[in-house]
Amino acid sequence: MTPAPETSLQDIVSHAKEYGFVFPSSEIYDGLQAVYDYGQNGVELKNNLKNMWWKAMTQLNDNVVGIDAAIFMHPLTWKASGHVDGFNDPMIDNKDSKKRYRADQLLEGKAEQYANNGEAEKAQALLNEMGRLLGANDLEGVRSLIIAEDIKCPVSNTLNWTEVRQFNLMFSTQIGSVAEDSTTVYLRPETAQGIFVNFLNVQKSGRMKIPFGIAQIGKAFRNEIVAKQFIFRMREFEQMEMQFFVRPGTEMNWYEQWRDTRLKFHQAIGLPVSKLKFHIHEKLAHYANAAVDIEYQFPFGFREMEGIHSRTNFDLTQHQEFSKKKQQYFDNDLDENGKPFGNYIPYVVETSVGADRLFLAVFCNAFTKETSGEADGRPSETLKERTYLKLHPALAPYKAAILPITKKDGLPEKAREVEKLLKTEFRVFYEEKDAIGKRYTRQDLIGTPFCIAIDHQTLEDNTVTIRHRDTTEQERVHISELKAKIAYEVSEQRILELI
Ligand code: ATP
Repeated sequence: MTPAPETSLQDIVSHAKEYGFVFPSSEIYDGLQAVYDYGQNGVELKNNLKNMWWKAMTQLNDNVVGIDAAIFMHPLTWKASGHVDGFNDPMIDNKDSKKRYRADQLLEGKAEQYANNGEAEKAQALLNEMGRLLGANDLEGVRSLIIAEDIKCPVSNTLNWTEVRQFNLMFSTQIGSVAEDSTTVYLRPETAQGIFVNFLNVQKSGRMKIPFGIAQIGKAFRNEIVAKQFIFRMREFEQMEMQFFVRPGTEMNWYEQWRDTRLKFHQAIGLPVSKLKFHIHEKLAHYANAAVDIEYQFPFGFREMEGIHSRTNFDLTQHQEFSKKKQQYFDNDLDENGKPFGNYIPYVVETSVGADRLFLAVFCNAFTKETSGEADGRPSETLKERTYLKLHPALAPYKAAILPITKKDGLPEKAREVEKLLKTEFRVFYEEKDAIGKRYTRQDLIGTPFCIAIDHQTLEDNTVTIRHRDTTEQERVHISELKAKIAYEVSEQRILELI
């Protein structure tokens, strides 16, 4: 088998649509930019990923619990968090093409070009200058820098740029039934704040002792200026975040631990180490004292999939100030002098991964095209190309397909018995139509790890064949052994014990 050359994003988008994983939103109306729907197979894969994350966080750590906060929050939340005043991206338009860009991304793209040409110093100097200008909110300076660097619009190929403007990424709407009483509320741009405002509720009701964490999975919304690259950058997406509350001074230890644990998670679900890397932030947000991204090598290059941030006590301090409610914890453990640590606002280490970016990474990694027969020197017209999704069996939408080889001779009835035996434990697919080879191919394309064929011998001795997706090898197994055999292969335990 020879793996096919590089997969393009277009291959991924087409496969995801054709086989029921991801569809453009409201497609019959030509779609809505940067909004996507998960189809019948996509939702299963995504749920399995979310479930795995949830278990890795809450089940493997007895000091981490989960919550599910509302999407709407009191508007002051976003004032306190800094999102109302500072959650902006600098945008710029090209007057000729009428295309809109993120000014920082144009400059970063140029820096990447320098770096790829071996001009690392020049790249760094450009990034530093950009950071300085954005830090000082010198938007005219950012525009001048774009022009000085000769960054042309890729569509019109001109330097005819508008001024740079700050654009707030939060979506707002009105809450309340009458216009006069209505208040502007935001669709949350991150799930983290729902955790911060519940810190004391959880701590008190759960009698939690520091260090402890609160995990949450939920929708977040950002009016991204440039939304492309499929589900990598969406306007409505899902985050899986965990805030870990610690004693001040211990945060760097926890930051390093969570960074390593999160990397292990990605490896455990099957992402290869060669496609993962850390990207340490040199320039930190004002509230952070350390930050690192876990990047995955998508078809368009290494990009952020997860962020791990040491956020100091910034958020809780801000909420204390805006809500006028104390956000302190009383720590009765003793310090080295035998005195209780006493009252303090905890420090926080955050892990934040996008469910959709994780989905995209897993999907890209699983997408496999192989040509068989090349190694045997067969003539090219007899070579067979096979496409399949090499998903970890615990993540696959269906765990097994049950396929009677013909529609007669009592085989469907026997196959239904096998289905009944398995379906309370695993998600199985039943199909009678078409030649067995075609049915195998269809299961390969959606990543089903096992195909169970029921044939005439099954009627005689209660054995079936199991075909393995990745090797296409087949083995004969007694029906009584099926459950145990599949259970081991598809068990979440195989992932969780690696973390
Ligand atoms: P980027 O720099 O790519 O915009 P970010 O640094 O703003 O990302 P965070 O605010 O740290 O992202 O959000 C945490 C995680 O949420 C990201 O690592 C990513 O997986 C996910 N995420 C953020 N924005 C989006 C989006 N528009 N679409 C899909 N996932 C997103």
